[in-house]
Amino acid sequence: MPRPTASRKAQRYHSAAELIERWFHERQRSLPWRERYDPYEIWISEVMLQQTRMEVVLGYFSRFIERFPDVMALAAASEGDVLTVWSGLGYYRRARFLLQAARQIRDQHGGMVPNDFDSLRKLPGVGRYTAGAISSIAFDEPRPIVDGNVARLLARFEGLHDPLGSTALAAHEWRSAEQLVRCSSSPRVFNQGMMELGALVCRAPLPACSECPVSHFCVAFAKGLTGELPVRKTGKEAVPMALPLFIVRDERGRILMRKQSGPLMDAMYHLPHGSSDLLGGYAKSSFRAGELLLSFRHTITHRRIRFDVFAATLVDGLAEGAGEFAWIAPEELESIPHPSYVRKAVEGLVTKACRARA
Ligand code: SF4
Repeated sequence: MPRPTASRKAQRYHSAAELIERWFHERQRSLPWRERYDPYEIWISEVMLQQTRMEVVLGYFSRFIERFPDVMALAAASEGDVLTVWSGLGYYRRARFLLQAARQIRDQHGGMVPNDFDSLRKLPGVGRYTAGAISSIAFDEPRPIVDGNVARLLARFEGLHDPLGSTALAAHEWRSAEQLVRCSSSPRVFNQGMMELGALVCRAPLPACSECPVSHFCVAFAKGLTGELPVRKTGKEAVPMALPLFIVRDERGRILMRKQSGPLMDAMYHLPHGSSDLLGGYAKSSFRAGELLLSFRHTITHRRIRFDVFAATLVDGLAEGAGEFAWIAPEELESIPHPSYVRKAVEGLVTKACRARA
């Protein structure tokens, strides 16, 4: 393909932007945050969608908006309240940043999500992508966005051979996204069209080019490289590890849990466990492990963990100052902040007990 001149390149971007906008009008999925384009809802949805699949986000989004319908309601919440609603969605730093940012918006912007990019960037947890998404989708400002779907699409559309995750690829893609959005008639429609096209048509590992509105302008399509682009970076190997969990019950069948801090999942309720770098640990010798009740696997970031769940008893009672312990009935789990592995363990125990009774 000959190197395009500046005017041919501009024409290509104008035509592609127009086609993508038209395609989005016809094919967009109906999503709750697209009903009103409320800036608060756009912000919450964009934060939830980072590192989380759309199907998972939908249920969490509705519950979150029901519980915290606007900035003021979120700003008035406690961290525990927010983490409870977020429980199971993972990457809990996002929830803490949302709370901090809501308080900043209440104190500095009168409770209204700011409509300028620079003010958005000053909010905790709001980077270039999220500020661009709120500016363009909520306020129709011509700001570029490059998420995972857009990155894959642009690597193919522009025929870029730098590996995913590389600085060179990111720089090229953000430049292209900026030029493209400036050629659009509505940044809100265009940016969502790019994300939707990446999610539904320009998919990994193989795109459905016959359904693509911009195949005529796509470098990878013209060169037969759609299966080779984007170039994958060499993946980080999952680190296998094993962690025993201890189920200590009181006379009412409630389970001992502990609100604790560690490198991950700060200030949430955990099951007592064997010492590990991941969760901070509580001396294994404080529990006498009995029967192995169940085992399951769970991945947390790049760690692939096998959890072995043991019935256990406390050896010397609860150590003073060893954290905030609580007795939690399985049906109370939804009312406390807890990570997904705790839910898996408790649900596994409940299912096992039901089977035993049947
Ligand atoms: Fe992606 Fe194919 Fe469209 Fe190119 S033509 S942008 S590879 S779906």
